Amino acid sequence: MTEKIKMLNPLVEMDGDEMTRIIWQMIKDILLVPYIELKTEYYDLGLEQRNRTEDKVTEEAAWAIKKHRVGVKCATITANADRVKEYNLKQMWKSPNGTIRAILDGTVFRAPIVVDSIKPVVKTWKKPITIARHAYGDVYRNVEYKVPGRGKAELVFTGENGETVRQTIHDFAGAGVILGMHNTADSITSFARACFNYALDQRQDLWFATKDTISKQYDHTFKDIFQQLYDSEYKAKFAAANIEYFYTLIDDAVARIMRSEGGVIWACKNYDGDVMSDMVSSAFGSLAMMTSVLVSPDGCYEYEAAHGTVQRHYYKYLKGEQTSTNPVATVFAWSGALRKRGEIDGITALADFAAKLEKASIRTIDAGIMTADLAGLSAVSEKRVVHTEEFLREVNERLVKLL
Ligand code: NAP
Ligand code: MG
Repeated sequence: MTEKIKMLNPLVEMDGDEMTRIIWQMIKDILLVPYIELKTEYYDLGLEQRNRTEDKVTEEAAWAIKKHRVGVKCATITANADRVKEYNLKQMWKSPNGTIRAILDGTVFRAPIVVDSIKPVVKTWKKPITIARHAYGDVYRNVEYKVPGRGKAELVFTGENGETVRQTIHDFAGAGVILGMHNTADSITSFARACFNYALDQRQDLWFATKDTISKQYDHTFKDIFQQLYDSEYKAKFAAANIEYFYTLIDDAVARIMRSEGGVIWACKNYDGDVMSDMVSSAFGSLAMMTSVLVSPDGCYEYEAAHGTVQRHYYKYLKGEQTSTNPVATVFAWSGALRKRGEIDGITALADFAAKLEKASIRTIDAGIMTADLAGLSAVSEKRVVHTEEFLREVNERLVKLL
């Protein structure tokens, strides 16, 4: 390694909270700054700064991603009642991820980092399975009512001209429950577009599944929107990339995923994505090995680890203890962002560096050097459990050899 890699355009760098904020700095110091003339536009999304700026900093960061197209984010605290007290907050600030997602209108893709020495619970899975979760509506924006007793429940829609459409949901003979939920054609279309673009980007097949046989209007609308967009804009591009779009019923998708070798992107409605991403991540091993990328329909990318700020470890760190917190998903957030920056700006050296950084991380784990969370999962016989900083230095030793 002679000269540092130069960047053309900046990455939007979003710093965060607690243990991941500490790891963030370590990764930059040990693995990035020695090799890259790192060009970032820095936003501090740490809770104190969000509080000081009345959360304006989060919005500014999101707009910066829209401008520069690529961002990398550290995990952040989502404020709750405890945090309001702990940080003496002016108010319970909204989740930064929610704010950024709303501004970018993006879809979140989550994928496990696969290493040879950690075998997934499902024996046939050889390649990562990426879950794309629709992040708007359905049961997450529902209206519920606990029916107290006999009565009639109706679904009423009033159009802008005042005309109404009315359907009976159920004639209740006694107590029960009802629920109203919705989605919008715009949101479903954005979701579909993000999924098609990401599949092309990754050169992986895209699966989508709903329960349209039972939900003949609601779920069927999702199916139709995906199909229409695919036919009109993506069919030829998929053929050229030699990948497939495949629709099936959700129960069939589950059965097929279990028998597949992975390597596909599975688009899920909001609730399905919530459940399936937890299933996929636990079957692949550890939350600390899950990456997450937010992709907007107009092609902006924000990379992060799927886990949170690892609060429990941070409190140990504050007492002066060294912690064995797994930095791999955060390293991959950086490598993902650097690779994308390199691709967009035509800087091969940057994309190459990203690939080598990932390879060095995986080699370290396969060599038996790992953080405590992986010790019980790894099939390597001679293991050495190390602290976070030592792990990063071991990755660096392997990175130097690859460069
Ligand atoms: P968490 O930070 O993901 O940690 C939950 C537990 O999972 C940890 O206590 C730890 O288990 C294990 N773990 C997660 N990441 C790990 C890593 N890198 N290395 C080793 N172990 C890891 O979730 P949380 O404790 O529920 O949430 C903490 C804060 O993070 C909250 O304020 C929450 O709002 C925020 N959060 C942010 C994001 C985000 O920014 N995207 C996502 C989720 C949560 P052990 O303690 O057993 O070692
Ligand atoms: Mg969940």
